[in-house]
Amino acid sequence: MTPSVAVDAVTAAFRRMDDVHAGADGLNCVLWSDRDLALGEARAVDARPDPGPLAGMPVAVKDNIATLDLPTTCASRILEGYVSPYEATVVARLRAAGAVVVAKTNCDEFAMGSSNEHSAYGPVRNPVDPTRVSGGSSGGSAAAVAAGIVRLALGSETGGSVRLPAAYCGVVGVKPTYGRVSRYGLVAFASSLDQVGVMGRTVADAALGMELIAGHDPRDATTAVRDVPRYRDRAGASLDGLIIGRPAEYFPASLDPQVAALTTRALDVLRAQGAEVRDVSLPHTDLAVPVYYIIAPAEASSNLARFDGVRYGRRVTGRDGGLRALYECTRSTGFGPEVTRRILLGTYVLSAGYYDAYYKKAQEVRARIADDFHRVFASGVDVLFTPTSPTPAFEFGAKSDPYAMYLNDIFTATANLAGVPAISVPIGRSGGLPVGGQFITRHFDEAGMFTAAFALERALGEDAHR
Ligand code: GLN
Repeated sequence: MTPSVAVDAVTAAFRRMDDVHAGADGLNCVLWSDRDLALGEARAVDARPDPGPLAGMPVAVKDNIATLDLPTTCASRILEGYVSPYEATVVARLRAAGAVVVAKTNCDEFAMGSSNEHSAYGPVRNPVDPTRVSGGSSGGSAAAVAAGIVRLALGSETGGSVRLPAAYCGVVGVKPTYGRVSRYGLVAFASSLDQVGVMGRTVADAALGMELIAGHDPRDATTAVRDVPRYRDRAGASLDGLIIGRPAEYFPASLDPQVAALTTRALDVLRAQGAEVRDVSLPHTDLAVPVYYIIAPAEASSNLARFDGVRYGRRVTGRDGGLRALYECTRSTGFGPEVTRRILLGTYVLSAGYYDAYYKKAQEVRARIADDFHRVFASGVDVLFTPTSPTPAFEFGAKSDPYAMYLNDIFTATANLAGVPAISVPIGRSGGLPVGGQFITRHFDEAGMFTAAFALERALGEDAHR
C-alpha cells in the first residue's frame, strides 16, 4: 500500500484554506487553487520510490511566478486568465523535491506595493489582526504561511516584498543575494533588483526552501555559478566571535518606540549568545527610497511594455479597430492606478532631457548605497542587524498617499539596491502585532545570515511571538 503522507498534507492544507481564506471575512490570500489537481500531484509524490526532501509538503507560490496549470496573473486584470506555457525554475525545483503547489497567492499588482492593497482582487487581511494589512507585495504568501495553510511559500523581492510582509505577519522571510536564485519564470518588474525569495514559519523551513531553489540555472544568465551550502546545517552554530553591526541610520529618533525596544532586546540576546555588537554607519540610507522609486519605475516602464494586448492576456480593441487604440484600451483598462503611476513615472525619468538628471543620478547614488555596505563589511563586521520596518502592520487605507506608502520601504530597499542578502525574523509583538528584525550580510553569505537567524530564533524562543 502506498503511504498517504503527501495526500494527507495537501488535504489538511485545503481544509485550512477553506477555514481561513475564503468568505467575506476571510484572509483573501489565495487567488488560484485546484484541489483535484493538487491531490493528483500528491498521489504521484506518494507513489515515488523517493518522495524527496519535501515529501509532499504543500507550498504556496506568489502569482507573479509561472506555474503550469494554475494561472499566473500578477494580481492584474491585464493578465486575467493567463496560464503560462512553462514553469519557473524555482517551482520546478520545489516540485522535484516533492513539494505540491496548493495555491497561487494574492499580491500587489505586478508586485508594486508594500501593503497588498494594490491587488486587482482586493487586499489580503493580516492573520494576526484582520483590520490590518498583511504587508506587500507578497502579502498572500506571508498570510498563507502565518495562517498555517502552508509551511513554505515563494515570494519575490524588488524592494522588500518578502521581508516586509513576513515581518507584518510574524513569519520568516528571505531575500537572497542578487544572482543567487533563478528568475526564469518570474514576471519581470525591475530587472536590476528582482529576486525570488522564500517565506517559512521557522528559520529551518526558510533555510530548506533556499537550499532547494538557490544555485545556477542555465536558463537565467544572471544566476551565479557558485556552490550552495546546506543552510540547515547552520542551526545550532555558535555566535562566538561574530561581529554584528548596528547601523545608526536604522534607529532614528522617530522610530516606533516599541520597535526600537524589541530590536534592542534582540541585540542583547545576540550579545548573550557570544556576538559582539558594534555601532556602525550607512550614511546614504535616507537616499534609498528616492533612488529606489526612480530606478524601479524606470525599469518597470520598460518591462511592462510587453503587456500590449497582442502578446499576453487581456485584449481590448478600440472603436476604430486600430493598433494604437488596441494598446491604449488594453493598457488603460488592464492596469490599476499604482502600476499606471509607475509606468508614467518611469517613462518620464527615462525620457530625453530627464535621463541624466534622474535615472543616471539615481544610479550614481545607488553605487554610494552599495559602497556603504562594502565599507562596513570590509571593516570586519560580519552581519548587520536592523528593524525590518519602522512600524508594525498598519490599518487599511492608512497610507493612501503614495509617498507615505513608499517611505515604508526605507529599511528594506537598501539591501535590494546593494544586491546583498537579508532575512527578516520575528522578534516580538507591539500592541499584539508582529515585529520583524533583519540580518543583512555580504554578497553570497546567506550562510552567515542563517547562522545569526537560527541563533536569535533559538534564544528568543516563545518571546519572538509575544
Ligand atoms: N514596496 C516596493 C514597491 O512597491 C517593493 C516591491 C517589491 O519588492 N516587489 O516597489
